[in-house]
Amino acid sequence: MRAAVLNRPGRPGAVDLAEVDRPRPGAGEVLVQVVACGVCGHDQADRAGLLEIPLPAVLGHEISGIVVETGAGVTRVVPGDRVATAQFATCGHCARCTSGDELRCPERSFTYGGYAEYAVLRATSLLTVPPELDIVATSVVACAVGTGLQALRTRAGLRPGETVLVTGAGGGLGLHGVQVGAALGARVVALTGDPDKADGLRELGAHEDVVAGDGAWQAVLEVTGGTGRTSSSTTWAIPTSSDRLSAPSPTAAATC
Ligand SMILES: [Zn+2]
Ligand SMILES: [Zn+2]
Repeated sequence: MRAAVLNRPGRPGAVDLAEVDRPRPGAGEVLVQVVACGVCGHDQADRAGLLEIPLPAVLGHEISGIVVETGAGVTRVVPGDRVATAQFATCGHCARCTSGDELRCPERSFTYGGYAEYAVLRATSLLTVPPELDIVATSVVACAVGTGLQALRTRAGLRPGETVLVTGAGGGLGLHGVQVGAALGARVVALTGDPDKADGLRELGAHEDVVAGDGAWQAVLEVTGGTGRTSSSTTWAIPTSSDRLSAPSPTAAATC
């Protein structure tokens, strides 16, 4: 099968298209024919050597596809199932996993292998894709969409009618953060460095857009009535770890 293999970290050309053996699933694993795989900032960090991973590696953790074969002990999926991955496989039975806090499972392991025609994945990283959902779009649900959902709904406790500021709104996380904020009923202020993205962000649900640069924070205050508040409280979400904002009495700052 064909796979994009990272042999040595470096510039984008460091990933080589190669012919490799199709992997076989071991116990607890599943062979998936890859339909789609998102390209994530995490992949770029791996490719650039910013994270230490075993090499050679086939990157790609935002995977959707069709189950081809299951290894011993796998019962949650069968061949033919449409599936998408979470970023992590977990043990599935520890106190963290059974309480809905599986991201803190001590046995969690990151998903790899999506930049290939087939990937062997741990069964506990797989979610079944309902027939009404597009199989390609679901590849990014867990990472790109789930990160914003975790930040806004779980961490920040965003409620309908509150205002949320999404910085880096034109990026991979920001685009979904805007949509998640709107879906949660919030008033979304989108901060973007590219004025050409403003119309698109409004189409995705942003109620206000602000272009980053000198005066941007003042503009944010103006679109929120000069105080940073438009309703009983204001929640500020910061979906990039490189950016920080001091806001008047923010309800929460969620960083993902
Ligand atoms: Zn990702
Ligand atoms: Zn666990």
